[in-house]
Amino acid sequence: MSTNRTFTMIKPDAVEKGHIGAILDKITASGFKIVAMKMTQMSLRDASEFYAVHKERPFFGELVSFMTRGPIVAAVLEKENAVEDFRTLIGSTNPAQAAEGTLRKLFATSVGENAVHGSDSDENAEIESQFHFAGREIF
Ligand code: GDP
Repeated sequence: MSTNRTFTMIKPDAVEKGHIGAILDKITASGFKIVAMKMTQMSLRDASEFYAVHKERPFFGELVSFMTRGPIVAAVLEKENAVEDFRTLIGSTNPAQAAEGTLRKLFATSVGENAVHGSDSDENAEIESQFHFAGREIF
C-alpha cells in the first residue's frame, strides 16, 4: 500500500450513538476518499490481536471489552499524506485535549471511548487494512 492511505474504525461508542453518517461526512468533506468499508464486529481474539501492542498496559482489558461490545465500521481512506492528516482530523486520544472541530472533540466521550481509530504510521495502516480487508475489498 502506498503512503497515501490510512485505516480507520468508527468505534462501538460512536456506532451506538448513531454517528456513522456524521463521521463519514466529516471524513469525506476533509478530502479523504473511501476505498474500502465494512460494518463488522471484532471478536475478543480479533481485538486482542489488533491491539497486541498495548497488551501490557493497565487499560488493555477495558480496551478489548469496549472494542468488542458492538459493531464497528472499518474503512481504508485515501488522501495525500493520509496518515498524518487523518490523525489531525481525529484529534488527541483524550477528547478533553482534542482540538475544536476534530472528530474526537465532536463525538468522543472519554480517553477509552474515543469514537474513532486512525493508524499512526504507514506501516501500521498497511497491517491494519490487511487485518480487516481482503485485497479484493480494497479499491
Ligand atoms: P490512539 O492512537 O490515539 O488511538 O491512542 P493509543 O494508541 O495510545 O491507544 C489506543 C486506544 O486505547 C485509544 O484510542 C483508546 O481507545 C484506548 N486507550 C488509550 N488510553 C486509555 C486509557 O487510559 N484508558 C482506557 N480505558 N483506554 C485507553
